[in-house]
Amino acid sequence: MNTHAIELTTRDGEQLRFECAADQNLLAAAASVHIVLPAQCGQGNCGTCYANVTDGEFTLGKHNPAALPVDDEAQGGTLLCCTFPRSDLRIDLPFAHDRILIGEIKVRNAEITAIDSVGENTLRLELLLAPDEDGGSVAEFEPGQFMELEVPGQGIKRAYSLANTGNWEGRLEFLIRLQPGGLFSTWLQKQAAVGQTLIVHGPKGAFGLSENGLKPRWFVAGGTGLAPMLSMLRRMAEFQEPHPARLYFGANRSEELFFQAELKALQAELPQLQVVFCVWKPDDNWQGFCGTPVDALAQDLADATVFPDIYLCGPPALLDAAEAAAKATGVPADQILSERFLPA
Ligand SMILES: Cc1cc2nc3c(=O)[nH]c(=O)nc-3n(C[C@H](O)[C@H](O)[C@H](O)COP(=O)(O)OP(=O)(O)OC[C@H]3O[C@@H](n4cnc5c(N)ncnc54)[C@H](O)[C@@H]3O)c2cc1C
Repeated sequence: MNTHAIELTTRDGEQLRFECAADQNLLAAAASVHIVLPAQCGQGNCGTCYANVTDGEFTLGKHNPAALPVDDEAQGGTLLCCTFPRSDLRIDLPFAHDRILIGEIKVRNAEITAIDSVGENTLRLELLLAPDEDGGSVAEFEPGQFMELEVPGQGIKRAYSLANTGNWEGRLEFLIRLQPGGLFSTWLQKQAAVGQTLIVHGPKGAFGLSENGLKPRWFVAGGTGLAPMLSMLRRMAEFQEPHPARLYFGANRSEELFFQAELKALQAELPQLQVVFCVWKPDDNWQGFCGTPVDALAQDLADATVFPDIYLCGPPALLDAAEAAAKATGVPADQILSERFLPA
């Protein structure tokens, strides 16, 4: 069968090439030659394998429209897991080459060391990786990445972003929104306990800090979308990175805002960090910003003298609104980075 030549260019200018048959999707073709690109569901649902076709013809198969905004699609935006080539293709990847794995995704056991309720329907889950075959326990990942967590014997695998940073002890921290009737959510609520084992696949994913000079970094998080932002900000604190930083963290009601003490602690380590708590439906006692994080972002962008790099994470509706607000004030598309929290 005829194949087409695929050329990928990463954000930092590295190139990778492979062949893809017309009836093969690009993600699978890359994996068949051991190029593991950031991805999760593999079915066009999650948006994690987003990329931009700059040259060539392709067919985009069945996918969830929420995973690929319509205006992105019109400009070559695609999901690699459901893209079938009709000619040779040139594709820009929205991440650096260090997010591409040459080999296989790691699969390890991890023990639950804590499950705490941190707010309404929100848990903090802490795991400790079991030693690997070389006896090491290191938790190696980049801030912004996620892991897939699997309950042994149940075949349920779900994506959750890491909230901590890489460490030698093997600690993994997650912030999890309990979805009504959700399979993993129900297991967490009813069966999970300290001491039990989970299977951990990863790290995976392309979301993360962009090395883009000393531009300000603004982070916009809805609900548990805070997790990857925390990871990135904690890394900035560890490395004492000097970029001006702002976090917009929103909830519908003030009682739903969690991790306020942890964010205060982070500010002590990263003094230039400004945290803007946003409450959409505040009660009379609320003294912070009234509105969504997108309202606060739009207001501050109007006064910005330098366009910041903008990091967005949470439900797709929040991301679409934030991206539209940022683009409307002139923020270039390549300064807007996002991770969509979509169902498995
Ligand atoms: C890359 C990535 C990273 C993620 N990181 C996190 C994270 O750090 N924290 C976190 O809380 N979530 C995160 N998510 C979302 C999480 O993986 C899903 O919500 C997951 O489906 C929940 O599993 P479940 O088994 O509890 O529910 P499921 O059995 O998958 O779903 C049950 C029901 O709930 C609905 N549902 C599930 N998830 C959502 C959602 N996110 N929005 C709206 N409706 C939903 C489904 O449509 C279904 O009706 C991430 C998703 C992706 C793609």
